[in-house]
Amino acid sequence: MSRTLDHLLDQNVVWASEKRRHDPTYFLRMAEHQTPQYLWIGCSDSRVTANDVLRLDPGEVFVHRNIANIVHTSDLNILSVLEFAIEHLAVRHIIVCGHYGCSGVRRALGGDRGAMLDHWLQPITMLYRKHKPKFDAIGDEAARLDRMCEINVEMQVRRIAATPIVENAWARGQELHLHGWLYAIHDGLLMDLGPHLSSTEERDALPSIDARVIDPAEPVSAMRRQAIDAFTRLPPDAMEGLACPLPAASHRLTCAEGC
Ligand SMILES: [Zn+2]
Repeated sequence: MSRTLDHLLDQNVVWASEKRRHDPTYFLRMAEHQTPQYLWIGCSDSRVTANDVLRLDPGEVFVHRNIANIVHTSDLNILSVLEFAIEHLAVRHIIVCGHYGCSGVRRALGGDRGAMLDHWLQPITMLYRKHKPKFDAIGDEAARLDRMCEINVEMQVRRIAATPIVENAWARGQELHLHGWLYAIHDGLLMDLGPHLSSTEERDALPSIDARVIDPAEPVSAMRRQAIDAFTRLPPDAMEGLACPLPAASHRLTCAEGC
């Protein structure tokens, strides 16, 4: 077995050459500065890469990733990223993006407690234990995991909103919007879960995370939103005979039209 990674270095040469061929000034522009509008806080899962799922080029999204996209308010790594993104890059949007089927969240719901990882996952574990009857009432294990992935995103958005870094940005009038999203690996679609927060007032008006466990928000994908918008614009009699535009493969989507 080779001790070097020549195949990856070879792929890098191909990639850089293709980039230059399609856009001769690409790397010159990249070398000048970065001006991302977005900070992405996502899971380390190798299948959920921000630039790919957002269809953005390098330089367009600032990224922090860790297992299960958790915001520990004592984590110097994420706090440094947050401060740099807000105060130096002046990003306008912070996206906390989890994903369905997250192995980190799955472990937090299990009984293993022997690894450092279990300390990391403790916020999810604690929320699960607090509401165990509610979560366990979801009989299907996969559905329970999905639900926990959703509530975890909501919890982390709230934690971001509670940091002094974000509070100070809002206090000085800086435009900064927080978003909670979920990525569905099985169809490649992002779901908008919320909450959407742009001020301390909006944050403080939120129902508690415990209330959200009882009354969950329904994730909405861009594709579903487009479908709802399309149907909304149609007169009622135009609905007859129309095929549902929602992807049949997406088990998470429930058509608003009931078809
Ligand atoms: Zn994950």
